[in-house]
Amino acid sequence: MKTQVAIIGGGLAGLALARRLDQTGVDFQLFEARSRFGGRIAALQTPNGAVDLGPSWFWPGQQSIATLLKALGLTDFAQYATGDQWYEDETGRVHHGLGFASMEGSLRIAGGVIRLADAFVAGLPADRLHNSARVATIDEQSGVQLANGQICTAPHVVLALPPRIAAGLTFLPALRPDQKHSLEAIPTWMAGHAKFVAVCDTPFWRDAGLSGDATSRRGPMAEIHDASGTNGTPAALFGFLGLPPRAPQGSCARDHDSSTGAVGPHFRGEGDDTCAGGASGLGFRAGNRN
Ligand SMILES: Cc1cc2nc3c(=O)[nH]c(=O)nc-3n(C[C@H](O)[C@H](O)[C@H](O)COP(=O)(O)OP(=O)(O)OC[C@H]3O[C@@H](n4cnc5c(N)ncnc54)[C@H](O)[C@@H]3O)c2cc1C
Repeated sequence: MKTQVAIIGGGLAGLALARRLDQTGVDFQLFEARSRFGGRIAALQTPNGAVDLGPSWFWPGQQSIATLLKALGLTDFAQYATGDQWYEDETGRVHHGLGFASMEGSLRIAGGVIRLADAFVAGLPADRLHNSARVATIDEQSGVQLANGQICTAPHVVLALPPRIAAGLTFLPALRPDQKHSLEAIPTWMAGHAKFVAVCDTPFWRDAGLSGDATSRRGPMAEIHDASGTNGTPAALFGFLGLPPRAPQGSCARDHDSSTGAVGPHFRGEGDDTCAGGASGLGFRAGNRN
């Protein structure tokens, strides 16, 4: 295979670049390690629509994303922020009447951020997008080599993936130790966070005068927000769980169990025991486990 630009990574950055190259007539091939595109953008699919498991918010004034949504025919809506928020202190005492929702003013994408990734993919030539195609080596002579041995010759290679993950690739000639260390030292935003999503029949907290915002000094979720779709459908709450970015296999399931216990009997479904989220009432996703 031969191309002008080989893009490594099919998350938001890689897909946005692919779109730009496609629009300007530059030949490219995009390689994504996972079996799906979107990277950190992911969704829990429910019968009433998608709930974000990865990013949710953007803010007024962020013109690039606003322009992009318009171009792709997507719409936004305001994060639900009406009502009281709760705060649980370290002794377990719950304080009411704090009166503000911390994400007030932020915007969400109708149908979930997954629609952005889906729209990118739908608008790009399928024969240039390769999933389950992990790049193992970047060779100055032969181009990009996939883990399955396939080679793509390209004068330009773009790493559209977190720098510390890029540091794990084999470079020929090899990176200098200081270059490798520099890549490894760049933190990945949200790498230490996972989202726990609880899907409900109705946004019952809204009827009780609550915004869905809660913070806790005890955990396991330090911060909870309304994650419902437009007009409250699907109805959902999500909480951030702090996880070590390189948590050992199985720790997701363990934390999932403690979270499930903590959110109590309001929710349907047994949940999903993996880090990837599931189609039942509870979804769970780690921040950055490429
Ligand atoms: C839980 C969570 C909540 C977040 N909330 C927000 C928010 O509200 N607002 C906001 O603006 N941002 C938020 N973010 C951050 C946002 O998701 C990221 O900044 C953004 O999605 C990064 O996109 P990316 O394309 O740069 O990287 P990624 O999405 O990480 O994409 C990199 C891709 O490269 C692939 N890859 C890795 N190694 C290889 C390889 N060897 N070969 C081929 N492919 C490879 C990966 O599988 C992945 O698909 C959140 C992130 C998380 C995890």
